Amino acid sequence: MQDNFSVDKETITVNVSDNASLVYQFDLLKEENRKLAADRHIFDKFLDVSGNAYYCYNLESGVFHCVGDFAGMIGVDVKCVEDIPAIRDVIRDIDADDVMDIISISTGDGGNVVSKEFCLKSGRKWIEVSAFLISDDEGFPAEKYVCFRNITRLHIQKDELTYLAYYDNQTGLINRNYFIEQLNDNVEKAKQEHVPLHVALVDIDSFKRINDSLGLVYGDELIMLFGQYLSGFNNDRVNVGRFGTDVFVISVYDPGIETSVESIVREIRNRLKKPFVLSNKDEIYLSVTVGVAVFPDSAHTGLGVLQNAEICVYAAKDGERDKIHYFDTNMMKKFLEGFEVEKRLQDAIMMQNFVLFYQPQYNAATGKLRGCEALIRWKEHDGSYISPMKFIPLAEKSGGIIPIGQWVIRTAVAKLEEWRQKYNFNGVMSINISAIQLKKDNFVDDLLKFLRSADIDPENLEIEITESVLIERTSEIIEKVSRMRQFGLKIALDDFGTGFSSLSYLRSLPISTLKIDKSFIDTVISDDTTGIITESVVNMVRRLGLETIAEGVEEEDQMDFLKKISCDNIQGYLLGKPMEERDFEKCVLEAAV
Ligand code: C2E
Ligand code: CA
Ligand code: CA
Repeated sequence: MQDNFSVDKETITVNVSDNASLVYQFDLLKEENRKLAADRHIFDKFLDVSGNAYYCYNLESGVFHCVGDFAGMIGVDVKCVEDIPAIRDVIRDIDADDVMDIISISTGDGGNVVSKEFCLKSGRKWIEVSAFLISDDEGFPAEKYVCFRNITRLHIQKDELTYLAYYDNQTGLINRNYFIEQLNDNVEKAKQEHVPLHVALVDIDSFKRINDSLGLVYGDELIMLFGQYLSGFNNDRVNVGRFGTDVFVISVYDPGIETSVESIVREIRNRLKKPFVLSNKDEIYLSVTVGVAVFPDSAHTGLGVLQNAEICVYAAKDGERDKIHYFDTNMMKKFLEGFEVEKRLQDAIMMQNFVLFYQPQYNAATGKLRGCEALIRWKEHDGSYISPMKFIPLAEKSGGIIPIGQWVIRTAVAKLEEWRQKYNFNGVMSINISAIQLKKDNFVDDLLKFLRSADIDPENLEIEITESVLIERTSEIIEKVSRMRQFGLKIALDDFGTGFSSLSYLRSLPISTLKIDKSFIDTVISDDTTGIITESVVNMVRRLGLETIAEGVEEEDQMDFLKKISCDNIQGYLLGKPMEERDFEKCVLEAAV
């Protein structure tokens, strides 16, 4: 900017006698002034836009300059050195001395480039002040420049980020990470003071189902209400956090009678006797499962205690939900075993280490082979087999049942194709379908698509669905089963007699076959009532046009009875256990003779 002032004095002197030259010089000056004013205008605009304010102080001459809206920014006007102390009055205590150090360098010769943030007493504004020193040609301090910058917006953003990093914005509770941080601090404190610390994991029961029925918006609102309720337990000994979607965590430091986990959980359960009322006026009841682990008894670190509380909730889900479950080492043992089996099962799914066994079904009257039920086994490395009773429930929990179920369908259908080609086999292959498979959205579409490309008659494939699934009779399930039936597949109602068996509902179900459960057959001879019930079931089912299969027939007299009451088919150890493929092929060959 110095260049704009540089009107050459010598030129003016040399040409002073020359009038025209004087006019020329005057115009030149005018032009320079205009440029200067334009630059000054731009400079002022930049200053306005920046929102900053500056002052500078010449140490030698004492000349003080200030620019920018000091009054607007910090509430005091700074026009001269004497105004500077007034700044102190508007600054909050935080680092006020540091800030004054910076400001005071404009009047002293100490200090260098420094920068500090301070907050105004009104609390609404954050200012950053930076000061720097300019030295003269000999290196002596000559001028001080001080800049005030409004950084309130940055501070608000920082606060928001801090909130997001530490808090759950749905419930206002601290989040998982911050809870763990505080738990670790508390564990250290508890160690030094030799006091216990209890950690309770509070898991809302069946929240997924509740959420699905409410929809996401009201599901979120419910979580917010429950979280806000739990936050009421926060105090200097009790810390409440949100651990996951529907899992909350409470730590109680040095528990006393008033602030024990028991008393808190008792209070929560009492509260849950009343519903939460949503903004749409829906009243929702919740129940929770609570697992508690104690420091130092169960683990010596915060994370260890938390993990144990998690294992405890996991174990509690299969037990009594109403009580508080405390972690013990037995639980850990069981958990590790379950974990190990789950891992091995995952490997088995990857490697498809399964085989199908086939149990023959015979027509009771003619003795002709009706077909077989395909029953899966998990083949271990040592050649032994693991029963489906052991791993199917596990696979249903982990979701592994989906790939397992697909494998069963493909393997069974491939066998049907093969036997038809090889032995002209025209019998029925029954396969078991888990509720989890059936409830999957695309299950029926995928199955029918696959079957359209397979070389089998749909009547030769039977889908076994347990009574408990069909009895739910949700329109969705009925629709799915009807589509399979319409495609031509046989549908068997499995384990009839184990649930809330009611003959009246059979009429409305799209089924073709009824499998009478082994528990009936077991006492069909010894218990008259069972005999009578079985007979009337068979009669009624026949009238409905359905086929009957008696399962688990082990004795001759059971078979004789079933023949007498005209039960259509017999399946059981008496006529054949579930057997390997090549053994069943022998049954097929015998039947063909
Ligand atoms: P389920 O569908 O009721 O199958 C009949 C079970 O009874 C089979 O047990 C069979 O071996 C057994 N059984 C048949 N006749 C007799 C008998 O006379 N006496 C005795 N004591 N038992 C007999 P398994 O093979 O252990 O299968 C158990 C359950 O595992 C099956 O019960 C079924 O619910 C499930 N399962 C088997 N294979 C599959 C599959 O591929 N997918 C699904 N989702 N579940 C399967
Ligand atoms: Ca079955
Ligand atoms: Ca069965």
